[in-house]
Amino acid sequence: KKEALQRFVGKKTVTADGCQVELFGNIGSLEDARAVVANDGEGVGLFRTEFLFMDGGAMPTEEEQFRAYQQAALIMKGRPVIIRTLDIGGDKDIPYLGLEKEENPFLGFRAIRYCLAREDVFRTQLRALLRASAYGDVRIMVPLVTGVEELRQVRALIRRYAEEFDREGVACNKDVPVGVMIETPAAALTADILAREADFFSIGTNDLTGYTMAVDRGNDRVRYLYSTFHPAVLRSIRSVIAAGLAAGIPVGMCGEAAADPLLVPLWISFGLTEYSVSPASILATRATIAKWSASDTDKLAGKVMAASTPSEAYDLLKAVAR
Ligand code: PEP
Ligand code: MG
Repeated sequence: KKEALQRFVGKKTVTADGCQVELFGNIGSLEDARAVVANDGEGVGLFRTEFLFMDGGAMPTEEEQFRAYQQAALIMKGRPVIIRTLDIGGDKDIPYLGLEKEENPFLGFRAIRYCLAREDVFRTQLRALLRASAYGDVRIMVPLVTGVEELRQVRALIRRYAEEFDREGVACNKDVPVGVMIETPAAALTADILAREADFFSIGTNDLTGYTMAVDRGNDRVRYLYSTFHPAVLRSIRSVIAAGLAAGIPVGMCGEAAADPLLVPLWISFGLTEYSVSPASILATRATIAKWSASDTDKLAGKVMAASTPSEAYDLLKAVAR
């Protein structure tokens, strides 16, 4: 099986009828970035920066962060590197950041909410990202966005720091693309509004499924409700992709569902432009995409989107899986 996948090395990622998409890797470290290259990934679609903050007992300095982001850019040799700003809170705690215990941490002070409230922490990371942007195709991605004001605030900060660098003569890309993760129902339902101001979308199906279904995956008693095959989640994803495409921005997916061979034909039909998967899944995902032609997936998607339940949708997709 592994040898069979080797024939996809060096190939473009295309459907059977020639629609090309981008196939990136998700990384959490520089070692993972090398694994993306080793598995012939076309870029990094999600760099989870939390590891930099988890490893030590103190905040990584601007210099330390810069070096990590710069290395990722250099390892990818000019290919896109989408770096997500700090996504802590929820289930990810970092002792020295001083997060308080909350009743509902997944509905609380996490990700962009934390960063916008802690300008000291955020400034350090954004400055490091801006400096790294001089060394490759670095793009900045904002997690857990619920509305366009958050994106505007991030852009205003980036503009301010880029102006500082300009005065200091430090190289950076002041037009660094800024995109949003679509992983809350609020963002999904207002994707058309967000698309006017975001440079790209990336659908975070892990959180989007949890928040749409109002299910904590860590809770054994309700986990059975957690399914990306639920009509609510599938409709949400379909409309997000449509909104992004209508606005002319790229729409990627970086949650687990991007690599699910049962769901890939749906994403093809919806017009997803970029898939970001774990390095180990890159070639298998390229192989799955190659097995489908867009017209076949449209017929299938029509049936699946008429399903009443997650298991109906699952069974329809399972029966034709390639
Ligand atoms: C997601 O929510 O789908 C996602 C990619 O982010 P994370 O898994 O890091 O929360
Ligand atoms: Mg997420």
